[in-house]
Amino acid sequence: MQAIVFHGEHQLALENMPKPTPGPDEALLRVNACGICGSDLHGYLGHSPRRDAHVPLIMGHEFTGIVAELGSNVKNSPPIGAKVIVQPLIHCGVCRACRAGKTNICPNMAVLGIERHGAFAEWVTVPADRLFLLPDGLSDVNGALTETLAVEVHLFRQLAPALLRTVVILGAGAQGLLAVQLAKIGGASQIIVTDIVPQRLALAEQLGATMTIQADQEDPVQRVLAATDKWGADFVVDAVGAASLKKQGIAMLAPDGIFGLVGLAAGESSVNFNPIVNKEITVRGAYAYNDDDFQRSLELIARGQIQVEPMIHVAPLSEGISYFQRLIDEPAGLTKVILTAQ
Ligand SMILES: [Zn+2]
Ligand SMILES: [Zn+2]
Repeated sequence: MQAIVFHGEHQLALENMPKPTPGPDEALLRVNACGICGSDLHGYLGHSPRRDAHVPLIMGHEFTGIVAELGSNVKNSPPIGAKVIVQPLIHCGVCRACRAGKTNICPNMAVLGIERHGAFAEWVTVPADRLFLLPDGLSDVNGALTETLAVEVHLFRQLAPALLRTVVILGAGAQGLLAVQLAKIGGASQIIVTDIVPQRLALAEQLGATMTIQADQEDPVQRVLAATDKWGADFVVDAVGAASLKKQGIAMLAPDGIFGLVGLAAGESSVNFNPIVNKEITVRGAYAYNDDDFQRSLELIARGQIQVEPMIHVAPLSEGISYFQRLIDEPAGLTKVILTAQ
């Protein structure tokens, strides 16, 4: 089968790989669509020790497909021929985190496309209990955004209600644009988005932002304070992970505000903790998602409450490597690239 194989920093190759065979508890899927995640780009650039430890590796964890074969032990799974989406976090189910319902932070977790082969390929095997049926009417391509949305759903469900609050979203990439729409569903009174790419800010406005800030031309902190009668934002979501945004986020938060973090920075970030004390700020990290977040994300996209189409660019798997490079060199016109197998 055709697959994009990662061999280490800056080394991706389109190769012929053996078609995998499902183990007793696994399903074999024909891959229909697989999104390129920001974390895959970090992997390609050599910033993902987890991926580096498993080369040669087929990356890709945001994918939909068709069930082609089921292992001998599999029960209660979507049947052969069903269209499915995969929740790619394989948790152990028995550790203390899993038993506390925190499956997303299971220390024994293996992620498809990170610790074992993912779906930048024509075929992939996955544990059958990670399959979710794709609802009728939801396309393979749009469904592939479920994983990305689930990250934001997990964060927003931990924040206090957004109703009538000011929400600032730092970064208008795929995560940021999905966060805009969740803030809108949550009833935020102001949704302010920062980015340095004008096209992305225009998309944010189209999807519900009430104000956008071109962060390399204007001071985001001053603009947020001006827009809130100097009170500040009730929620700030860091949808990027860059160290500089941590400082900015804290400076623009209102007293009693919440700083939600989903982005992972490459190194350490230095922050002044005093405003956290002075203003009684809560800093809330959110990592990945659990099955319930995933199911709710799937429903939000299937019902059209979250629009994913404006941020999607579809390309064939065979051209995937050039899209990795384009997303790094000239990301302005591209938000989420979905690779399809034909
Ligand atoms: Zn991802
Ligand atoms: Zn566990």
